[in-house]
Amino acid sequence: KGFWNFVYQPIIGDDGTANGIIVVVTEVTEQVLARKKIEVSEAFNRAVLDSSTDCIKMMDADGRLQFMNTNGLCLLEIDDFKQVENTFWWDMWEPHNRQIIKDAVASAKSGEKIQLQLFSPTAKGTPKWWDIIVLPVQQDGTDKNLNHILSVSRDITEQKLNELKEKELLGRFQTLVFQAPVAICVLRGKDYVIETINEGMFEMWNRTLEETINKPAFDVLTELKEQGFKELMDNVYHTGERFVAEELPVQILRNGNLENLFVKFIYEPLREADGTVSGLMVLAHEITEQVLSRKKVEESESHFRQLADLMPAKISNADTEGNVLYFNKHWLDYTGLNFEEIKDFGYHKIMHPEEIEEFQKRFQKAAETGTDVEMEMRFLNKEGEYKWHLNLASPVKDENGNIKMWVGSTTEIQKLKEDEQRKGDFLKMVSHELKTPVTSIKGYVQLLLIMLKEHEATPSSFLETPLLRIDSQLKRLSRLISEMLDLSRLETGKLELQKELFSLDTLVIETVQDIKFTNTNHIINILRDFSGSVYGDKDRIEQVIINLINNAIKYSPGNNLVELRIHQAENNQIAVSIKDYGIGIDAEHQHKIFNRFYRADGKSEENYAGFGIGLFIAKEIIEKHNGTITIESKKGEGSVFTFLLPLATETKQ
Ligand code: ADP
Repeated sequence: KGFWNFVYQPIIGDDGTANGIIVVVTEVTEQVLARKKIEVSEAFNRAVLDSSTDCIKMMDADGRLQFMNTNGLCLLEIDDFKQVENTFWWDMWEPHNRQIIKDAVASAKSGEKIQLQLFSPTAKGTPKWWDIIVLPVQQDGTDKNLNHILSVSRDITEQKLNELKEKELLGRFQTLVFQAPVAICVLRGKDYVIETINEGMFEMWNRTLEETINKPAFDVLTELKEQGFKELMDNVYHTGERFVAEELPVQILRNGNLENLFVKFIYEPLREADGTVSGLMVLAHEITEQVLSRKKVEESESHFRQLADLMPAKISNADTEGNVLYFNKHWLDYTGLNFEEIKDFGYHKIMHPEEIEEFQKRFQKAAETGTDVEMEMRFLNKEGEYKWHLNLASPVKDENGNIKMWVGSTTEIQKLKEDEQRKGDFLKMVSHELKTPVTSIKGYVQLLLIMLKEHEATPSSFLETPLLRIDSQLKRLSRLISEMLDLSRLETGKLELQKELFSLDTLVIETVQDIKFTNTNHIINILRDFSGSVYGDKDRIEQVIINLINNAIKYSPGNNLVELRIHQAENNQIAVSIKDYGIGIDAEHQHKIFNRFYRADGKSEENYAGFGIGLFIAKEIIEKHNGTITIESKKGEGSVFTFLLPLATETKQ
C-alpha cells in the first residue's frame, strides 16, 4: 500500500504527433501521510482555538493581524475578520493605549512574554477590562527566528468591577471609621497590633497616629497592661464572645500624668473566613464628664436628703401625676411607715377623710394655674391619731413654665390649733356672757327713752341725746357680739341654716327700708331688673345684705349715695350688687378682705371701727348657699360687692 505520483509524458515525434508515453512513477507515500497529519493537527488547533473563551490573535512579526478565533471576534464585537485583517494590532486600540501595545509587541518581538491589564471598549463601544498576554511564537522551539506574535486577551470586566466595588466599600468603611464620633480601632493578631485607628481613638489615648499604627497595642499603651485590659481582650480572643463595658474606670497617660477616665466600650471579635478569631475591633466612648456630673448630682442629692431629714418640717416630693417620690425622715417617723409602705399605702390614706376631697379639689386647681396649695389639714400619726398640719405644696417649673414636680412642706400646727380652739372657746364664752347684760342694758335704755317721752316736763335733750348715743353704741356692741358668735359657730361647723323659699328682691327692698328708717343721712337706690326666689336662710341672707350696705355706708365718708341692683346672672342665678362711691380697696387687698380678721391697712381705714369678720361671715353664708361673692373696686373711686345665688327651681322661667 502506498501513494504514488504518476506522470504520463507523451513523446512527440518530429511530425508533431505523439508517438509514445513516458511514465514516471514516484512513490510519495511518506509525503502524503505527513500532509494528512498536518491537516488533522490544523483542524485540532482550530477546534482548540475556537473552544477558548479568550480572544486569541495571531500577528505577523511586525504586528499585523493574521488570525483571530471566533470567540475573539465575538468578544471584540467584530462582525468579520476581513475588517481587521492585516491592520496593525495597536490601531485597533484607542490612541492613548496604542504606545503601550506597540511596546508590548516590540518586547514580544525581542522574545519576551508580556502581561498587562488594560481598559478598552469593544468595536461597538462596550466598556471592557482586559488581561492581555503577548508572546512570541517560534516555528520551532529552538529556532530563534521569530515568525509570529500571539496575543491572548481575557475579558476580566466583571472581576474588575467587583474589585472596584470592594475597594470603594473599603474606602467608605475607612472614612466612616475615621469620621465616626466614637473611638474605633482594629487590633490584629495575638499581640493586638493596631491595624486601623481613628482620630477619636488616638485622641482618647493622647497618642499620635504615627505612635500607634502597626504597633502592638500594649507596647504603645504600657499603662493599660496592669489594668486588666489585656486579660479582657485575651478572653474575647479565645472565646470569640463580645465584651461590653457600660462604665469602666481607666487610667491613661496624658501629658506625663495618669488621668482617670470613665469609658464605655465594646470588644468585638473579628473572624477569618473559617471562623477563627484573628483580631478585635474596639469601639469606645469616653463618658468621664457624664459620670462625674452624675456623681455630683448623686452627691448633691444625698446632701439634699440629709438636709431634708434634718429639717423640722415634713418634706415630700411628688411628680406631676401625684406619685410621691420622696418622704423625708420626719414623715417616716411620724407615720411609722417606711417609704415603700407610704407609697403603696397611698399618701391620701394618711389624710383625714374629711379633708381629702377639698385638698384634691384645691390641688387640681393649683395644678391648672401653676400656683401653691395651702391648706390646714389633719394627718394620721403612728399612734392612730390625726394631728393638724399646715400643708403647703409648691410647684417646681421647668424653663418653659411647665410644672415638673411638686415639693410639699408640711408643718404640724396641732398646738397652735389647740390654742386657737381655746381662744375660740373663750371668745364664744365671752360673747355669750356679754350678750345677756348688753341685751338687758339695751332694754333699760329703750325703757328710759320711752319714759322720757312720757314725762315731757324734763328737758328732753339733756337726757335724750346721751341715751340715743348709748342706744346706738349698744347696737354696735350687740352686732359685734353676734358676729363673734357667728364666727365661733362657723368654726365649729355649728352655723345651721333654716331654709325656706323666699323672694330675694322683696327681701332686699324690705331690708333697705329698715336701714333707711334708722339711717336718714344716706340715699340708697334700688334698681330691680329681675325678680326671683331662692331657697335659703332668709335671716342669714338679710344679714349679708345689711353687712354689705353697712360697709358701703361706713367706707364712703365723703359720699352718701349707695346703689343696689338686682339682676339676672348666668347659670340660672340671681345677683345683687351693692355699689358705693367711697374709699375703695387696693387691688392687692381685694382678694384678702374675705379672710377672717382681715382689714385693709391704710391711713383712711384706721378711722373705721370693725373686726374684719363681717365679710368672712358673709362669704361663708353665701357659699353655704352654693353662691359666690365677688368684688370690683378701685382705690379712691368706690367698690361694688356682688353676691350670686342659685334661683330656686320653682321660679325657673
Ligand atoms: P370690718 O368689720 O373691718 O368692716 P369686714 O369683714 O366687713 O370687716 O371688711 C373687711 C375689710 O374690707 C374692711 O376692714 C375694709 O378695709 C374693707 N372693706 C369692706 N367693705 C368695703 C367698702 N365698701 N369699701 C372699702 N373697703 C371695704
